[in-house]
Amino acid sequence: MLVPNLKQAKIRTKNKIEIDKYKVDETLKNLGQGKKYFLKTYGCQMNEHDSENIKAILEKMSYTETIDMEDADLILLNTCAIRENAHNKVFGYLGRAKNLKMRKPSVIVGICGCMAQEEVVVNKIINEYKWMDIVFGTHNIHNLPHILKKAIDNKKLEIEVFSCEGNIIEDIPVKRDSKYKAWINIMYGCDKFCTYCIVPYTRGKQRSRKKEYILKEVEELVRDGYLEVTLLGQNVNAYGKDLEEDYGMENLLEDVAKTGIKRIRFVTSHPWDFTDKMIEVIKKYDNIMPYIHLPLQSGSDKILKLMGRRYTKEEYLELHKKLKKALPNSSITTDIIVGFPNETEEDFKETLDVVNNCKYDSAFTFIFSPRVGTPAAKMKDDVPFEVKQERLARLNELVNKYSKEANLKYKDKVVPVLIEGYSEKGDNILMGYTDTMKLVNIKCDKKYIGTIQNVRIKEVKTWSMDGVLEED
Ligand code: SF4
Repeated sequence: MLVPNLKQAKIRTKNKIEIDKYKVDETLKNLGQGKKYFLKTYGCQMNEHDSENIKAILEKMSYTETIDMEDADLILLNTCAIRENAHNKVFGYLGRAKNLKMRKPSVIVGICGCMAQEEVVVNKIINEYKWMDIVFGTHNIHNLPHILKKAIDNKKLEIEVFSCEGNIIEDIPVKRDSKYKAWINIMYGCDKFCTYCIVPYTRGKQRSRKKEYILKEVEELVRDGYLEVTLLGQNVNAYGKDLEEDYGMENLLEDVAKTGIKRIRFVTSHPWDFTDKMIEVIKKYDNIMPYIHLPLQSGSDKILKLMGRRYTKEEYLELHKKLKKALPNSSITTDIIVGFPNETEEDFKETLDVVNNCKYDSAFTFIFSPRVGTPAAKMKDDVPFEVKQERLARLNELVNKYSKEANLKYKDKVVPVLIEGYSEKGDNILMGYTDTMKLVNIKCDKKYIGTIQNVRIKEVKTWSMDGVLEED
C-alpha cells in the first residue's frame, strides 16, 4: 500500500526529470477479456484527457466500455479536488457503486485523479470505504494494469499513490473522445502554490514535456485529420521554464502553428507568465485562436496578495488592455473566487470594477472552498456564507450582462465554426464553436460534422447563439 503524504507532496526536489516510455504488458493483455468498464470523469480538461489515457490502457487489456454502471465489471471515478462540492459528488457516487458491489461482489470499484492524491481522502477510504478495490494517483496512471491485477488477485483494497511525481511517461496510449479536436498535455504539475489551490500537491512539480514529443503528437493528429488541438497545462504560460534549453511557450506556440493544424487553443494561462512575445506569436498566426482564458480570481490587491497570485489589479488590467489592443476581436474569459478569507465589501467592489473594465465574454465564478492542507484553509474564514452567496449572485448578474453584450456583437456576422456533432437542442441541429469559443447551434445536414464552416449568426443568447450556414 502506497498512500499519499501531504508533507511529501509539498516538497520540490531538484531531481532531474527523465523520460520513460509506456510499455504494454503482454501478460495482462487479456485481463479484461469479456469484461466491461465504466469510467466517470469529474473536473478539468486535464482529467478528461487522463480519462482518454485510462480508457486506452483498459482497452489494451481487452476491457470494453459501457455507459451503464449497472452493467460494469470495473467502475472507476476519475476525480477532481478543486472544490468541496466535487468531493461530495464522488462520495455520493461511491454510495451507488457500493450498492452494486453488494449485489455483484466481483465488480471492482476504484477512484483515481486528484482526490486520490489527497491524504485526507485516502485515510477516509481506508477507514470508511474498505469495501473498495483500487485507489491510484495522478502519477500512477501508467501502472494501472498492475494495480488492477493485484486488486483482482489479492481481493483487498489496493492503493498506489506516489506523493511526489516521477518521470514523464511518453507514449501512453490514448482513446480520444473526438475525431476532430484533441487535447495535448504540454506540461504537468504547477509550482505557483496559490494559497487556495490544491493542484501543486495533487499534480506535483512543474514538468514540461519536450517539444519533440509534443510536435510529433500534433503532426500525427494533422495526418489523422484532426482540425483542432488544445495545449493543456495548469499554467501553460510557464511552459519550458523547467527545461534545460531556452524554449518557452511562445516558441512552442509558433512551432505548433507551423505544423498547419487548423486551430490551436491553450489553457490555462496565469497572468504572471503571459509575455509580450506570446502575444506577438498569437497575433502572427491565424491558426492560433483568438480566445484567452485569463483567470483573475480577485480584483483586490489585498486579496490577490493573500491568494499568492503575484500580480496586482493594475498589472492584470494592463495585460488585459495589451491583449485587447493586439487582438481586438479576441474573446477573453476568466475565473473569479468570491468570499476569500478577509474579503470585505470594498475588496469585492474592486473585483466588480475589474469585471466592468474587462467586460469578459464569460466567467467561471465560485465561492471560496477551503482545501485541507493549503495555506488558505488555515486562514480565518470570516465572510458569512449568506454574504458569499449574495456577492456571487451580484457578480453573476454582472458577468451575464457582459456575456450577452459580447455575444450580441456577433448578431448577423459570419463566423467560422468547427461543427462537432449533434446539439442537445434536438435532431437535425448540430453544434460547434467559433474561433473565439462561442457555442453555436446550427440547423444543417450532418455531412458538415467535422468541418469548419462559415456560419451567419441569427440569434444571440447569454450562453449560445443560433446560426445558419452561409451560402458560398
Ligand atoms: S497557477 Fe493555477 S494550478 Fe497553479 S497553484 Fe495557482 S491556481 Fe493552482
